[in-house]
Amino acid sequence: MMTSQQMPNWLKQRTYLTPGRIALSSDDRRYTFKELWDMTVDTAGKIHCHIKESHADFIGLMIKNTVEAVTVIHAVQQLGLKAVLLNHRLSQGELAFQIEDMNLGTVIVDDAFYEKLQDQNVQKVKISDLDHTSPSHFEVKDHFQLDGVCSVMYTSGTTGAPKGVLQTFGNHWWSAIGSSLNLGISENDTWLCSVPLFHISGYSILMRSVIYGMGVRLYEQFDVERINGELKDGSITIMSAVSNMLQRLVKDLGDESYHENFRCMLLGGGPAPLPLLEACRDKHIPVFQTYGMTETSSQIVTLSPEYSLSKLGSAGKPLFPSQLKIVKNDNEAGAGEEGEIFVKGPNVTKGYYKREEANHKSFHDGWLSTGDIGYVDEEGFLFVLDRRSDLIISGGENVYPAEIESVLSSHPGIEDVGVAGIPSEQWGQVPCAFIVKGSGDQLSEDGVLSFCKSRLASYKQPERCVFVNEIPRNASNKILRRILRDRWEKGVYSGES
Ligand code: ATP
Ligand code: MG
Repeated sequence: MMTSQQMPNWLKQRTYLTPGRIALSSDDRRYTFKELWDMTVDTAGKIHCHIKESHADFIGLMIKNTVEAVTVIHAVQQLGLKAVLLNHRLSQGELAFQIEDMNLGTVIVDDAFYEKLQDQNVQKVKISDLDHTSPSHFEVKDHFQLDGVCSVMYTSGTTGAPKGVLQTFGNHWWSAIGSSLNLGISENDTWLCSVPLFHISGYSILMRSVIYGMGVRLYEQFDVERINGELKDGSITIMSAVSNMLQRLVKDLGDESYHENFRCMLLGGGPAPLPLLEACRDKHIPVFQTYGMTETSSQIVTLSPEYSLSKLGSAGKPLFPSQLKIVKNDNEAGAGEEGEIFVKGPNVTKGYYKREEANHKSFHDGWLSTGDIGYVDEEGFLFVLDRRSDLIISGGENVYPAEIESVLSSHPGIEDVGVAGIPSEQWGQVPCAFIVKGSGDQLSEDGVLSFCKSRLASYKQPERCVFVNEIPRNASNKILRRILRDRWEKGVYSGES
């Protein structure tokens, strides 16, 4: 009997409904849902041969954006295993921690990353090993349990040690439905995926593909010229991007524009600099700003282009199944008041794996406290300010590093920038800008500080500017301001400035 917590096996159902539709393409290869299903069942049988019963709950995946990786992701779902998506940019120590934390017995690894796993205490199965494996029999599941865990992804580790987020089938389902209620579904949709499949931004595109019956155009690497070519020729309708990608696309686009078929640039992952949003507005690029996190299984708040002028810089409103509130001193804040962003909805994780303390701290009556600060305006639009842990309190005023970084990133001589609070006798804390100069640029501390003078209120202006060789970033390329603070305090930068 099928209970309300069950649904038909997604890929099987999709193949039954629309077997001939294009599910996936990469370079010159194209696959229908029927072909994807056949490859998936074959791959699942092969993976099945390699699994040791004692570790049969979670399985690690260290993959690239390839067709083979897509079949592995679906195959793992068919086997009833929970996929633990490992970021291949993690250091050895970080990898060892995640493998141990999840007690992984097996990792399926793209051949290109095999060496990274060599010293790890885990069975490694290369994707090419599967070519030489004969599939063994397994029972194809007719149903998925909505409350069952489908995937585990670690948070990026921006604010502290990464935590394993349990994502259920129901979380992915509601995330896909929430997005479709906002963007609509069109028969001609093709979603370009050059964001990583091991991150929720990429994984969620695969889930939407199967649930909507939509094609995915997969890119192994972010290839600016080719992607711009496809956005101009009308073959792509939706694309997911982070701001760095969009920046490069806009620069390469020059005076040209995208095809009218291209209807959504879903922008997420972190703050979007205002100058970039303005450039997109001027070029009529349909940017949908979003706010979300690993814990919300992709976007939870989104701004439609109809508001991109009047609400420039806002992350928008919650998706239909979700809710949002701002909490200040344990009470819900009023319009315009800054506080911590709380979110709720069926796409929100039920918790972190084996993190009792973090679960206790982060979940309250079904609400997740995000650790981010923001405010909601009178019409209910969210403005994300920054991480609570990176907030600078200077002379009693709240200063948000992201705002200063956004201003400095528009300076043509600055290649990379991070802002963090440093101690000040007079103000408690003051912002300090850590800057990587563009090649051959004659940038001076005074030059940078005077650039800020006309663009930022006086209490937000960096007190110091330090030139550094690189900005510390994590495996997801996010700025680690806690490391900047730490290095400053230890005097690491005294030689570089
Ligand atoms: P950790 O939780 O381990 O510190 P992380 O929060 O960076 O890592 P992710 O889940 O990858 O891990 O990132 C989600 C975070 O990204 C959000 O909590 C928020 O801080 C930031 N973010 C996402 N969208 C936006 C946005 N539109 N504006 C500003 N920040 C955003
Ligand atoms: Mg986080």
